[in-house]
Amino acid sequence: MGPINSEESAMPLREDVVDFLKKNSGKAFCDACIAKELGSVRRKVGAVTVSLEYEKTHNFTRGPGECSRCKRQQESVITFS
Ligand SMILES: [Zn+2]
Repeated sequence: MGPINSEESAMPLREDVVDFLKKNSGKAFCDACIAKELGSVRRKVGAVTVSLEYEKTHNFTRGPGECSRCKRQQESVITFS
């Protein structure tokens, strides 16, 4: 099992994010916690979650709220419903 370098492509990360949020449907997560969960960085996850919300291809909502993982109030958390 070798390390996966996701630096080059955002697509696998995007699928991982969608997968993670679907599995945790109804729970809110901040970008930092999603990044930690997926072994990525906050900046990249942020780009993915912003585009997911913008495209409205899935039932994601993004807005201020409490992250279910770190329990902190965040400017934006994303939830799949
Ligand atoms: Zn969090």
